[in-house]
Amino acid sequence: MAEIRLDSITKRFDGPEGTILAVDDIDLTVHDGEFLVLVGPSGCGKSTTLRSVAGLERIDVGSIHIGDRDVTDVPTQDRDIAMVFQNYALYPHKTVRGNMRYGLEKSEDMTDHEIDQRVEDFAEMMGITDLLDKHPDQLSGGQKQRTALGRAIVRDPKVFLMDEPLSNLDAKLRLQLRTEIQQIHTDLGITTIYVTHDQEEAMTMGDRIAVMNDGRILQSGGPKDIYNRPNSEFVARFIGQPTMNFATIEYDGDSIKGDVFEFGLATDQHLDRGEYVLGIRPEDLVLDPAEPAGTATVAVTEPTGSEVIIYLETPNELTLKSDAVEEPGIGAEVAFGVPPEKIHLFDPETGETVYHGRLKRDGFETAPVQSVEE
Ligand code: ATP
Repeated sequence: MAEIRLDSITKRFDGPEGTILAVDDIDLTVHDGEFLVLVGPSGCGKSTTLRSVAGLERIDVGSIHIGDRDVTDVPTQDRDIAMVFQNYALYPHKTVRGNMRYGLEKSEDMTDHEIDQRVEDFAEMMGITDLLDKHPDQLSGGQKQRTALGRAIVRDPKVFLMDEPLSNLDAKLRLQLRTEIQQIHTDLGITTIYVTHDQEEAMTMGDRIAVMNDGRILQSGGPKDIYNRPNSEFVARFIGQPTMNFATIEYDGDSIKGDVFEFGLATDQHLDRGEYVLGIRPEDLVLDPAEPAGTATVAVTEPTGSEVIIYLETPNELTLKSDAVEEPGIGAEVAFGVPPEKIHLFDPETGETVYHGRLKRDGFETAPVQSVEE
């Protein structure tokens, strides 16, 4: 196992329409044994970053270390990594056993018997023992991806790189394999970078998440850290479902005024008067509170079972998540509260976070706002 270190890496692609800066000066350290998720919208540079670590892309600037070794110019096959892709990339003419054996056969330290034993042990771990003599075209999507995972881990790589491995699977199987991948990681402790565009997958799987946009890492931290203390409007919007509410507001030193709400803000944190973008998560808005900040008409309700998501008709369309027993009817006028300790304020020009209402939340505590970009 090993640490992965990216120092100021940059990757450009030259095309007919000019140069694309796919990875723009990224610094990132993935600690030994850590499961790091790279998450961001399509085209933000996640795959290129991962492919650079794998040696499938040659970086233009910077260096990549795996453990103590500078692998910047080392070919893929000598980096001691294993990769799993969305499209499985199995050898079609080999059986599951043949696919899993392939990487081990080059090893001069193992006898045929040892290889067989190892393949069978890992096939059992992946729950594919019954499939060992089948070919990929006889397998379901889930079975193919289990085989691809088995083929990767059987080699006992220093580093595991996964690029959207669950995207082709149905929702139920995705959840199941998520848990299995986490279990494998707990058992083997292989340093892993996992790429996804799905923020929920990132939140549930990552020891740490790095949120990317436009070739850069905007913020990295634990899932709770990123959720509770996003360092920018972009990160706040990207992480969390339903999406955080945003509204332009004015702070006059005592209170916050928006289009459809107003509430007092007493804080001992430094905050200049002026215009900000306020952010508040749907579950942090309060239905029918003792001290309402405003009222609005219910546009749509979506019961999820234990909770109800209520969309309010306001210029910015506020979303409220509530565990209220009685859900309000469509068209009803409801009062809502904006707890000041749960708000975030963003600079309207740069989108950077300038204020978090609560520095301490859900057992998580840090210093006042600062960039956690690595
Ligand atoms: P997705 O989730 O859609 O795969 P991504 O975040 O993984 O997106 P990348 O595939 O890394 O993004 O692409 C980053 C940028 O680099 C995009 O603008 C993409 O079009 C461009 N790009 C990637 N590979 C190449 C290539 N081989 N040639 C030219 N441009 C490329």
